[in-house]
Amino acid sequence: MSDTGKCVFCKIIAGVIPAAKVYEDGQTLAFLDIAPFEKGHVLVVPKRHAPMLTDLPEEDAQAAMRVTREIGARLLARLPCDGFNVLQNNGVCASQTVPHVHFHVIPRRNGQPFHWTPGQYASPEEVGAMQAKLRTDP
Ligand code: AMP
Ligand code: ZN
Repeated sequence: MSDTGKCVFCKIIAGVIPAAKVYEDGQTLAFLDIAPFEKGHVLVVPKRHAPMLTDLPEEDAQAAMRVTREIGARLLARLPCDGFNVLQNNGVCASQTVPHVHFHVIPRRNGQPFHWTPGQYASPEEVGAMQAKLRTDP
């Protein structure tokens, strides 16, 4: 099986496994992280498979950054949110666990300490409600 065939994000892009999608265009997909650092944590993923940012053609990286900026704007506008983190890990040594480029976009509140640990949603309904808030047509 090819790298792309084994890649969990390529499977989400292909529709083989589900995700709570909040944005999609020809080059980029964004969906809720399954184990959010904070509720509303979104992953912005170029559709082209590339393990590291330096493997990704510049135009795909630019498209992903445009969507990352748009998701940040939605977090600020649609959630109780005072700011957000953008994280992008490259390589196992840098805490990358899925070798397909992705940008984490994580909502933050004033006075809220940041725990760099995976969390979870209480129920599928809570996931659906967050997806509805953040997708293109809320
Ligand atoms: P990283 O450590 O930067 O590679 O981040 C990978 C992220 O992908 C983690 O935050 C995981 O929770 C997330 N993740 C892995 N599998 C899925 C999935 N099937 N759906 C949504 N998020 C996922
Ligand atoms: Zn992939």
